[in-house]
Amino acid sequence: MSEFKKVAGLTGMKDTLPPESACWEQLESLVRDWLAGYGYQNMRTPVLEQTHLFTRGIGEVTDIVEKEMYSFVDPLNDERLTMRPEFTAGIVRAAIEHNFLYDRPRRIYAMGPVFRHERPQRGRYRQFHQIDVEALGFPGPDVDAELILMLARLWRLLGLNDMRLELNSLGQPAERAAHRAALIAHLEQHRDVLDDEAQRRMHSNPLRVLDTKNPAMQEMANAAPRLFDFLGDESLAHYQGLCARLDDAGIVYTLNPRLVRGLDYYNLTVFEWVTDRLGAQGTVCGGGRYDGLIELLGGKPAPAVGFAIGMERLLDLWQQDAQVSAPAECQVYLVHQGDDAQRQAAQLAESLRDAGMRALVHAGSTGFKSQFRRADASGAIAAVIIGGDELTARAATVKWLRGDAQGDSQQESVAFDQLVHHLKQRI
Ligand code: ATP
Ligand code: MG
Repeated sequence: MSEFKKVAGLTGMKDTLPPESACWEQLESLVRDWLAGYGYQNMRTPVLEQTHLFTRGIGEVTDIVEKEMYSFVDPLNDERLTMRPEFTAGIVRAAIEHNFLYDRPRRIYAMGPVFRHERPQRGRYRQFHQIDVEALGFPGPDVDAELILMLARLWRLLGLNDMRLELNSLGQPAERAAHRAALIAHLEQHRDVLDDEAQRRMHSNPLRVLDTKNPAMQEMANAAPRLFDFLGDESLAHYQGLCARLDDAGIVYTLNPRLVRGLDYYNLTVFEWVTDRLGAQGTVCGGGRYDGLIELLGGKPAPAVGFAIGMERLLDLWQQDAQVSAPAECQVYLVHQGDDAQRQAAQLAESLRDAGMRALVHAGSTGFKSQFRRADASGAIAAVIIGGDELTARAATVKWLRGDAQGDSQQESVAFDQLVHHLKQRI
């Protein structure tokens, strides 16, 4: 026992240990291949950004900016900083800063941790991970459809067959302004059913009031004027252009006129993929078009569309469906007795690795019995044994732990200089 007190990790921030970490790695590698198939390239931006990037980019009157950001003043230079709560603002900032959209539109992705101060529960953490995909400089609706088709492929690749697609169009600023006036009038009329948050937001961000989960406000929200009914011809044509392409691909969707998404910057297309298998946190992916954001963040105006997937929720689903198993620690486990044998084993292990095999040299306890227990637990296919006799004969004893593919005897003697070749053929 240590005389020191343990230090606990933070609430809502998870540790991921083996074997679960292997599932993450498998998912990440599958995701990279999937993205490469559509020509998306990786961008890495810092976790920390200036706070006003997010207040401006995401919008002052949003859940994220009002109550979820981890922000602090850097005492060294008095800068207000925030741990990124999402990727889009940082990616757009970087694209502008590096003139990245100067010559051509770009397809970009990022993957990593984001931070939001929320009440932790299943599928809701304070540090969580997103796969973020952004198509910068494309007006759509062709690329809007491409993104959705791409997501449908990801669900197929992962064997997820219950994902539902909800779509809406948020129109353009002028259409939103007309709808906004009608909506505020409706909210004024039903002031008595509005909760505190809704009262506060009804003038600053009335659209978000419709996003409420408060059961007492559902009837009012359902009866509210629909933004979709305020769309002009161009916005409708954009929406229909998207739907036609989804129909071409046989993708099923429903129009959800109350889908507004949590961030201020969206226009035209917005969408979410949801499942019933994750309890209250059923949204796995959300996205939409944000044609105004690049200009809002100081760049030359350019249209854009993107989405973010919550990786914890995606993994939760994947693990419900598939038996994702971690690879064994190694293929070959070398056990040894005595200093000289250990040194010989270490050299042989390096040669095995040269030939592309995964090898572990036992370290720690010295008894053969406990070494074999360790070899078994490692998941190795073969144990290579080197003791005094083996050193003298310059031949290792190979013991097949999981039954050799060739059906050979369980144990055999193999000359040191034949070992790599011998094992390589059987592993
Ligand atoms: P929610 O309505 O669940 O709060 P959101 O609208 O805040 O979601 P987005 O900002 O669209 O979520 O983020 C994209 C995705 O990231 C979500 O669809 C979800 O899968 C995931 N996500 C969001 N917040 C969390 C969280 N606190 N913990 C884990 N995953 C999250
Ligand atoms: Mg949220």
